Amino acid sequence: MNLSPIPKARYDAVVVGARVAGAATAMLLARAGLRVLVVERSRRGSDTLSTHALMRAGVMQLHRWGVLPRLLAAGTPPIRRTTFHYGSEPVVVDIKDRDGVDALYAPRRTVLDVVLADAAVASGAQVLYGTTVTEILRVPTGRVQGVLLTDEAGRHHRVEADTLIGADGARSTVGRAVDARVLAEGKYPGSCIYAYWQGLELDGTHWYYAPGVAAGAIPTNEGLSCVFVSMPPNRYRVQPAVALDALFQQRASECHPGLARALGGARRVGKYYSFAGRAGFLRQPWGEGWALVGDAGCFKDPITAHGMTDALRDAELLARAVIRGTTGALADYQAARDSFATEFLELSDRIASFDWDLDFLGGLHHRLSRLMARECDCVRDFDTSQRTSMKEAADRPGGYRLLGFPVTIPA
Ligand SMILES: Cc1cc2nc3c(=O)[nH]c(=O)nc-3n(C[C@H](O)[C@H](O)[C@H](O)COP(=O)(O)OP(=O)(O)OC[C@H]3O[C@@H](n4cnc5c(N)ncnc54)[C@H](O)[C@@H]3O)c2cc1C
Repeated sequence: MNLSPIPKARYDAVVVGARVAGAATAMLLARAGLRVLVVERSRRGSDTLSTHALMRAGVMQLHRWGVLPRLLAAGTPPIRRTTFHYGSEPVVVDIKDRDGVDALYAPRRTVLDVVLADAAVASGAQVLYGTTVTEILRVPTGRVQGVLLTDEAGRHHRVEADTLIGADGARSTVGRAVDARVLAEGKYPGSCIYAYWQGLELDGTHWYYAPGVAAGAIPTNEGLSCVFVSMPPNRYRVQPAVALDALFQQRASECHPGLARALGGARRVGKYYSFAGRAGFLRQPWGEGWALVGDAGCFKDPITAHGMTDALRDAELLARAVIRGTTGALADYQAARDSFATEFLELSDRIASFDWDLDFLGGLHHRLSRLMARECDCVRDFDTSQRTSMKEAADRPGGYRLLGFPVTIPA
């Protein structure tokens, strides 16, 4: 067995979790010159329970960070059209060519998480897979000081850091250890079943809604489409006599005959994945020596397919705050995150309640769409505010390091 490398005793930041939130945050911190360790208990390239839709702001981030070509090279297909089906009423949206993004993408997590983690390594971060954070260390005043790790060979390491970042998912070890306060909670955990299909004759992404059920078909890598059905938990409980396949097919047929027809002409590849549901929450995302990003800080029902886009946006908000290195900067991170997270959580929860008719749902989707437009503005503003800071930095003796994107200082 190849033993994983020994971590150093001290870093500027230790990030727990090497998926969308953790890998992106680590990449940005490393690009700014910080010494970063990422600790991930699973193996490189392992899958996780998630479908794949990225919204425009998420794709903009991947484009700005220069990682989109790696996703394309991995065979991630461009999505140029998305269709919403409210009952039998289709609403077609063509993806506009804007901000350097002319298509959406829905990479498998076995692709996306690896591309981001590799970008973190290429930027100078150290990533340890198969390594688990088992304890959070604190100084007597309570400030987080570092972590204890156990690597895959069973060796224990003590690592100190100026900032410990929990990007360790909804069950966050860091969040629990620091007792991060719950600021808001959802009430409706929706349930979901998904699988991969070959030969699904649908153009782009399709989202389907009918009373008590929603579904989606998302083109992803290897010529496959990820198809999911969502429902309230009382319509999900799989009775012993009813197989997952039967329940999936039944809900897909209830949701839309076009989806049922498309599935009839396609072949399922691999098993069904099921998610019983988890109520959403918003947690305090920072404290003395620690911060949370991604699902660790805010989990929403996946029915709005926004967790990864949130994670990519908040990775940059948090990275900027950590680089500034003040409590004011972390408070700004929280304010910016919450200006999106509160409403995304509320909308996801209302949609996951399945307590809507199609008109009301259309209204919730309009709100989502406005929120996502503001989110794109926020991502666009990352470049504007960076150029301003670069100008200031250019005059500063000794300079200071900014997120290392290829931005030229305007004359
Ligand atoms: C069924 C389902 C469908 C979804 N579909 C979509 C979708 O279409 N679009 C979308 O945007 N979002 C979707 N989501 C949400 C999305 O999956 C999450 O928002 C996203 O995974 C959050 O990324 P993250 O990096 O914050 O956390 P995670 O992906 O949960 O990664 C956390 C990582 O931390 C590691 N870790 C945890 N504890 C430790 C520890 N103690 N030591 C070391 N490592 C540790 C874990 O191994 C894990 O790899 C879906 C979610 C579900 C459940």
